[in-house]
Amino acid sequence: MKAVWRDRLKLQNYISGLFIEPDSREWMDDYSPATGEIIGQVPKSQKSDVDRAVKAAKDALPYWSSLTNIERADWLDKIADNLESKYEDIAHLESKDTGKPISLAREVDAHRSVKNFRFFGEMIRNLEEESFGMEDANNRVIYKPVGVGALITPWNLPLYLLSWKVAPAIGMGNTVICKPSELTPLTADLLMKSVDEVGLPKGVINLIHGDGMGAGAPLVSHEDVDLVSFTGGTSTGANVAQSAAVSFKKLSLELGGKNASIIFDDCDLEKTVPGVVRSGFLNQGQVCLCGSRILVQENVYDKFVDRFVNEVENMKIGDPSNEDTKLGALISPEHLSKVEEYIQIAKDEGGTILTGGYPCLPKEFENGNWIAPTVIADLDVSSRCSIEEIFGPVVTIHKFVNEEEAIKIANNTRYGLAGSIWTTDLEKGNRVAESIHTGMIWINTWLHRDLRVPFGGVKDSGVGREGGRWSLGFFSETMNICTKYD
Ligand code: NAD
Repeated sequence: MKAVWRDRLKLQNYISGLFIEPDSREWMDDYSPATGEIIGQVPKSQKSDVDRAVKAAKDALPYWSSLTNIERADWLDKIADNLESKYEDIAHLESKDTGKPISLAREVDAHRSVKNFRFFGEMIRNLEEESFGMEDANNRVIYKPVGVGALITPWNLPLYLLSWKVAPAIGMGNTVICKPSELTPLTADLLMKSVDEVGLPKGVINLIHGDGMGAGAPLVSHEDVDLVSFTGGTSTGANVAQSAAVSFKKLSLELGGKNASIIFDDCDLEKTVPGVVRSGFLNQGQVCLCGSRILVQENVYDKFVDRFVNEVENMKIGDPSNEDTKLGALISPEHLSKVEEYIQIAKDEGGTILTGGYPCLPKEFENGNWIAPTVIADLDVSSRCSIEEIFGPVVTIHKFVNEEEAIKIANNTRYGLAGSIWTTDLEKGNRVAESIHTGMIWINTWLHRDLRVPFGGVKDSGVGREGGRWSLGFFSETMNICTKYD
């Protein structure tokens, strides 16, 4: 299928089935992370735009929530079919907007965006009512929509994460307002075009572009918004939680991570090294689940580090549109500066840079946000780079002696999202996994996703779980109806 790329897209909000300009008549520039060129213009929305979108969602609610699960599942399938027909467009827009390699945008972003709609369509179609019989009564548990939902997403996996929220939210009968990251608006716009093309009833899905303060904050605090599903940074999440708490909105927060990859000396190095490289650097390390702290048992430390650094240095970095590129650009100049500051902090704190620096790239990329994958050793396990989220292509490596020490280091951070354990002793793997304070752990793999399982973190990594029936639970109000027999 041929990709369609139109330079400098001037985007619009999508409200009540119409693409409309923001009230401010102002747009922000959207930049290509790889080249620094302007590729689009993003509406700078404000409270009045948000008010209009919330009203549209509220007006659409009575009809949409009156449909059966099967009818709504059919709509999810139609959106999935339409998105699938735009598969190559999704991949190209996402690669252009985020700076990620095209192969990754295809395999991960385009694939999962379609799958999210199909998966939740299937789940909702087969959702069965639960009942609990008593000797003299019966309890029926029913799922009702929560109401109007605010869905706020970050820039690292734009459509992947937006579709992960939109599909279960509307599938359970809610109507929604999407607020994608202002840094990566292009595929949210594409989703609205799909929604428009399939003829989804107007107002069921609305989209407000804009920045966090102008568009995100008034959306979260809006009195007619009943639920907020937020994915983004921990400090933003704290503001969102504060604002949503005032009116007791239903809230799900998927926040930052500082995940440990624990490598035991009995691991299969042939599989472990590529697995840990992938977990450290996928999407330039800009995945909340990335294993950015690598803990290696002392007996295998030197051997692992040698092979690991060698494999990292062999990753092809450069033009995101090349099929064989493995690493692209960072999202913005500000984010690149943040990553560079952390590398400087690591040096100041006594770290040794085993590999890193800047890639040598053709002239067309000179204004992009580029840095080579960086591996740092010899840092204290409590140093800032070892416990704070960098969210870039930077990993720290630490040595441990035994299980107890590995667990202690892994838990030595305010974050608690995910992690991975690499060992051939599965009993030990499971024992250690249970002692790690995170919402998810993989053993001998990473980012191996079954959409039915709970997804989310503890501590500063978030509140609540989404995924499978946990998403259906979050995006609905469960109600018990108890009927007493004569
Ligand atoms: P961010 O918190 O800066 O922005 C996320 C979204 O929130 C954007 O759409 C932004 O415009 C909006 N926003 C900003 N201020 C707001 C406010 N006051 N009220 C409402 N909305 C507001 O995050 P980011 O830089 O886009 O994304 C990177 C972060 O996201 C990292 O910390 C990463 O770990 C996290 N993340 C977490 C998960 C997860 O599932 N746990 C997944 C992906 C990314």
